[in-house]
Amino acid sequence: MSTANYSFAPVGLPYAQDALAPVISAETIAFHYGKHLQAYINNLNAALPGSGFEGKSLEEIVKESQGGIFNNAGQVLNHTLYFTQFKAYGSASEPKGALADAIIRDFGGIEEFKAEFQKKGAGLFGSGWVWLASDTEGKLYITQEANAGNPVRSGLNPLLTFDVWEHAYYLDYQNRRPDHLAALWQIVDWDVVAKRYAK
Ligand code: MN
Repeated sequence: MSTANYSFAPVGLPYAQDALAPVISAETIAFHYGKHLQAYINNLNAALPGSGFEGKSLEEIVKESQGGIFNNAGQVLNHTLYFTQFKAYGSASEPKGALADAIIRDFGGIEEFKAEFQKKGAGLFGSGWVWLASDTEGKLYITQEANAGNPVRSGLNPLLTFDVWEHAYYLDYQNRRPDHLAALWQIVDWDVVAKRYAK
């Protein structure tokens, strides 16, 4: 028997469902985490048997697959990174240490980085994700990825992401994607991002 893995499960939320409000409401978490992410997981688990990807890690599947398996695996990985990078509203943090130094070096400042990240998220046509990612030398990049894209496909290490699919913000912000992106900084857990950068 191979060590088949058809049982991906949602990552646990490191905060209560209402802890991110008013930046992200409990209702949005209920749908986004409870329904959308669960659907991607169910679709991925259903597609794995006989696919050749049984027993591979989520990251390996995202790097190597195409089509429906890639779409669902990418969305599972993306949402896993997304939901675990936030912390309760009112406990805002800022980048520190080596990560802060790299942001200042590569983007000219923390505020300059945030402005560029928001601009790339707001300007991404249709559904997708804006990412902060690093290469093996520690250089930082902002990438725009359509649909289920993830910078691991380009050999980069994903650090931080804002989901620009409408399901991420429509209940709370309707069509005001730029307002949603600007608000998200208030709940980013920069300690989590720094740990990903140190990997
Ligand atoms: Mn989403």
